[in-house]
Amino acid sequence: MFGECHAHLFMNGYSYHEAVELHRDRPKEDDIRGKLRLYQEQGVTFVRDGGDTLGVSALAKKIAPEYGIDYRTPLFAIHKNGHYGGIVGCGFDNMEEYHSLVKRAIREGADFIKVMFSGILDFSRDGALTEEPLAAEEIREMIRIAHGEGMAVMAHVNGADAVRNAVEAGVDSVEHGNFMDEDCLQALAESHAVWVPTYVTITNLIGSGRFDDDSLRRLAAQQGERIRRGFALGVQIALGSDAGAYRVPHAQGILDEYREFRRLAGCGKADPKYGQEGMKLRAQPDDAALLTEDELDARLTAAEREIRERFAR
Ligand SMILES: [Zn+2]
Repeated sequence: MFGECHAHLFMNGYSYHEAVELHRDRPKEDDIRGKLRLYQEQGVTFVRDGGDTLGVSALAKKIAPEYGIDYRTPLFAIHKNGHYGGIVGCGFDNMEEYHSLVKRAIREGADFIKVMFSGILDFSRDGALTEEPLAAEEIREMIRIAHGEGMAVMAHVNGADAVRNAVEAGVDSVEHGNFMDEDCLQALAESHAVWVPTYVTITNLIGSGRFDDDSLRRLAAQQGERIRRGFALGVQIALGSDAGAYRVPHAQGILDEYREFRRLAGCGKADPKYGQEGMKLRAQPDDAALLTEDELDARLTAAEREIRERFAR
């Protein structure tokens, strides 16, 4: 079974508010054990967390070996104050403060550094990004400082410019990576960075009734094409679902993400939930599949290996 390269163990897949309430005073071990058990039952032996502010992933790291799970965590994510990221991490105002957060993460036992470079998709506005990303110099400096401390960098980043800036500054993994253009995808293909699209954070919302399904299908089709292009260019792409996010349950998330990748690679089944758009995304019978099942598995295995090797102290 593949590993889960992007999860948030503290979240529950349906309510951020409830998750925070549950772990507010101290991380609840029963809840953490329950989630680790789900991964164990699914045969998932590698989980990379995206961070939290409640100490959940710190405790999870201690007990995960009991479940046969190699669990890696940044402990908390780091964002610039006034920008997205408060839901999973700590903020800074200047590079000095950033550097001390990096040192604190290291002191407290983080396996790597998680940073936030951009906003998120606003599904109520056709997936427009919620805010402007950090400036190129800030992105470069944040990566340089973390690397200087010997730490790999997992970056939450959306938008062509921000992703390209991160990739050119040597980021180790690109999380989400929505709205990349051809230039950016090529830069990614030439870099050592691994891309973790967390595609199901879009596709699993279809049919939820919370957002407009046509708009979600459109976003899914566009991002699906970019993932296909990424595979075609030889970008290292890994499976990570952002498990814990809305409608992305732990352990199930990675199965959903894999099913979507198979569909995109043309070696899986079409999914009726996409209607006509979905049929277009599937390789047509007279098309050669973009990747065979074995090729896809080999690619995903190699990208995961890269993450396992790089995101460790
Ligand atoms: Zn995440």
